[in-house]
Amino acid sequence: MRFTKITASIGPKCEDKKTLKQMIAAGVNICRLNFSHDTGAVQGKKIDMIRKISDELNTPVAIMIDLQGPKHRIGNFETEDKYPLTIGQKFTFDSDPTPGDGTRVNLPDADVMKSLNVGDRILLNDGKIEMTVDSVTPDKIVAVVVRGDAIWSRRGFNLPDTEIDTSVLTDKDRMDLEYAITKNPDWVAISFVQRPEDVAEVRDFITARTSHPIKIIAKIERPNAVARISDIAAAADGIMIARGDLAVEVPFEQVPAISRHIIRECRKLNRPVIMATQMLGTMVDNEFPTRAEISDVANAAYLRADSTMTSEETTMGINPVNVINTMNKILTYSDNDAIANPYDWSRVENIPENDWSRSVASMAYLNRAAAIVVFARDTNITMQISCRKPDIPIIAVCADTATANQLCILRGVFPVFDTDLFAQRDAFNSAHKFGIRDGKIVIVDDDKISLRTLD
Ligand code: PGA
Ligand code: MN
Repeated sequence: MRFTKITASIGPKCEDKKTLKQMIAAGVNICRLNFSHDTGAVQGKKIDMIRKISDELNTPVAIMIDLQGPKHRIGNFETEDKYPLTIGQKFTFDSDPTPGDGTRVNLPDADVMKSLNVGDRILLNDGKIEMTVDSVTPDKIVAVVVRGDAIWSRRGFNLPDTEIDTSVLTDKDRMDLEYAITKNPDWVAISFVQRPEDVAEVRDFITARTSHPIKIIAKIERPNAVARISDIAAAADGIMIARGDLAVEVPFEQVPAISRHIIRECRKLNRPVIMATQMLGTMVDNEFPTRAEISDVANAAYLRADSTMTSEETTMGINPVNVINTMNKILTYSDNDAIANPYDWSRVENIPENDWSRSVASMAYLNRAAAIVVFARDTNITMQISCRKPDIPIIAVCADTATANQLCILRGVFPVFDTDLFAQRDAFNSAHKFGIRDGKIVIVDDDKISLRTLD
């Protein structure tokens, strides 16, 4: 059994039905639809297709909408050429929409200028260019080049030192979310979250428009979000370690330590964590992963993350199905090794001895239970037990498809949508469904916990 889930980004190379179906059959648990690229009805069609495949394969699949968020880019230059930069030169970003030259360029989101302070760093092109702010007015930033030798059109623009005083939802995000909500997605991921209030804002936006229980993932990709991880995780329903932008905004050598910290904090708060970006990045062009990538995927399993994620390797890669097979193979082996050799820190945490979810996990552990069967009215109880990381499969019997789909993200949780099993509280047949026929099981039905021997 594989405990660590697979989130796959869906894009041009894998959005035909045949490929998508093969990927889901190969083990995709969550489909991520990135609204930085397609929007509206184009994404809507993909959502319908995923739901259909999920039905055909009789497998729950979570659908995650990923909003672009306030990702800043500079405007265009007069040509598509690279414009040389020299260290120490001044460079201007302004609100003038005319194409840039070697000394200035337009910054379309002029709003950020009011948040910047003299001395703040500006990082462009994934951190390859660094500048510091020399002076700033409401319509013009003058910066000094510290690193980098050329700049060109539409490079990304990151402000690691700045608390940006704009809404986490851009006008585009509001439009995208407004539409996405009508398709009842299971999860919505918010980019460039800075504070718990950003999560609350999105939750209010959603609950004002639907009663469907849509869950929220906060993407952690800014230093100020790392600093407030517990508050943000508490406000959200899950966390994504968005290592792409994170490794631009914090010194890259800190990303593994930050990842471990986030996984520990989320475990205390009962929030699932997705480890994202460049996990099998070279498989965009190659049939085999690098040794380092194999280790990176395996480490997510050993750290008891809830899910790994693919990005360009499935959206733009030469063989998206092979990417999922590869990830599945690495995770399955590593999960089973982790279970066979549990390491102690994974059990040490600030959860009180008498916490009921901890009792469930230790009851299952001490009795060497083959499974924990939860009758899941909603996601709450299953989420708590999963976050104890019991290293024992958790079979979540659900009475509605939304709960089954949402639970797909959780480590070691095997959701099954079956109204009969749920209505009859039939734990034995629920375990049988997953090939578990011998041994003991722990059964959780609301606050009733029992231990039974399978027959
Ligand atoms: P993105 O998020 O792909 O939407 O930028 C992931 C990341 O930054 O790692
Ligand atoms: Mn990002």
